[in-house]
Amino acid sequence: MMGLDSIETDYLIVGSGAVGMAFADVLFHETDHSMIVVDRHHAPGGHWNDAYPFLQLHQASATYGVNSRDLGDGLRDPTVLNLGMCERASSASILFYYERLMREFVASGRLRYFPMCEYDGDFDERHLLTSLTSGKKAEPHVRDKVVDTSHLNTAVPSAQPPKYRVAAELDCVPPNALARVKWPPTGYVVIGAGKTAIDACLWLLDNQVSPDDICWIMPRDPWLQNRANLQPGEEFFEQTFGAFAIQAEVAANAETIDDLFVRLEATGQLLRLNTDVTPTMYHGAIVSLAELEVLRQIKNVVRMGRVQSIERGRILLERGSVESDPQRLYIDCSARGVERRAAVPVFAGRRITPQMVRALQPTFSAALIAHVEVSFDGDAEKNEICTPIPMSDAPEDWLSMMLMNLVNQGRWRRDARLMDWIVHSRLDGFSGLARKVLPDDTEKLALLHRYGHAASSAVPNLTRLISTAPAAH
Ligand SMILES: Cc1cc2nc3c(=O)[nH]c(=O)nc-3n(C[C@H](O)[C@H](O)[C@H](O)COP(=O)(O)OP(=O)(O)OC[C@H]3O[C@@H](n4cnc5c(N)ncnc54)[C@H](O)[C@@H]3O)c2cc1C
Repeated sequence: MMGLDSIETDYLIVGSGAVGMAFADVLFHETDHSMIVVDRHHAPGGHWNDAYPFLQLHQASATYGVNSRDLGDGLRDPTVLNLGMCERASSASILFYYERLMREFVASGRLRYFPMCEYDGDFDERHLLTSLTSGKKAEPHVRDKVVDTSHLNTAVPSAQPPKYRVAAELDCVPPNALARVKWPPTGYVVIGAGKTAIDACLWLLDNQVSPDDICWIMPRDPWLQNRANLQPGEEFFEQTFGAFAIQAEVAANAETIDDLFVRLEATGQLLRLNTDVTPTMYHGAIVSLAELEVLRQIKNVVRMGRVQSIERGRILLERGSVESDPQRLYIDCSARGVERRAAVPVFAGRRITPQMVRALQPTFSAALIAHVEVSFDGDAEKNEICTPIPMSDAPEDWLSMMLMNLVNQGRWRRDARLMDWIVHSRLDGFSGLARKVLPDDTEKLALLHRYGHAASSAVPNLTRLISTAPAAH
């Protein structure tokens, strides 16, 4: 393989997605180590390379990407449905951001990048790289460690076929194809209940499609996060930290799991599409209240479980079937996104497996793990700091995520040097705001005190509630 004949490196990073880039960035800025990054994609950014053109982050750009470089310009959203909120990068700007970063890393001479290249090894001693374009192979010598960024295993519709059968003459496409529609079909059928399906519905409605021309197949109803509560800007302090305090108080005081969700909804922390339907899924997707109102205009929502097959004239589902015009366009949004997988130790000998150590924050987590790797000694201590938090799937996972967030944060607070790194991390976004509160700002201090007080009672109550949950899935 060209350029790979006799290569040596300190760190081999498998994957140049958001996690691999966040990890490499910390190594780049906090050490002198050399790195090789390999990826089977042609460019950095991982699944963002496969994204539909109208995809935007669900969270603010301010807390996504790598630690050393702002993503975006810190602007406020000018669009009606998210007016005034922190800007959220599009897939195109995310790819541009990673491409520029990678060019700079490579230009430094400390990082070598091998796109279109498959890693096949044991993440320990044996490393085999194969060029997908030429078939050439190489066995790099890795002096320190191998970083396996495949754990989150993000799956998107354009990179995998639907799991259900589709009659050959029907059009069933990933959302990427929507922006290429040349003439109107008789209607649209959106299949899925996660972020991608929400994006597809919002995009159709924003592009003059009547809500009556959309059929939304909702296998499971999701609990959704309220975007207004996740704004990292200074001017949102009261709203955001108020929400943190409310969530901690709900976690501290809820009497049962059902009661917890009643309180989270009543206080505007969690949202649902239809208040008559009890959600059975929580993937952490985020919407604004205005988006939720627009989505509720879609009345033809099919709640019969997962699609089994789409035939000419009807859709077969787990719990029934519905008639369907074969001239409609079927939009497959059923890929699972980030996979819920059992946690493994982040640090295991020569292998590092980044996972989320703050719930739903993969890039902050990857940066923190890289910082811990280069600043602490021994796998035992590093793993104690970096306890993984598995991805959520069911609503009850909200509780374990909250609990583990509080436990991890409590552990980090006991180390002043680590906390100093965290409050200065742009990917954290919130700890820095809290640290900046002045001693005479009594209102903000009271809010932080409220949160801290509730957080300590939340830990035992969440532990109790989780013990009453149905057996883990
Ligand atoms: C539609 C959508 C929207 C999202 N929005 C947000 C958001 O707003 N905020 C947020 O925090 N998260 C969001 N996420 C979650 C998202 O998955 C993460 O933010 C992040 O992009 C995941 O990065 P990753 O590096 O783990 O995975 P990936 O993007 O999948 O990158 C992994 C890379 O590793 C490569 N790779 C793996 N194994 C090998 C191998 N053996 N050989 C060679 N290459 C290999 C793959 O080719 C891939 O490029 C979103 C996800 C989706 C699907």
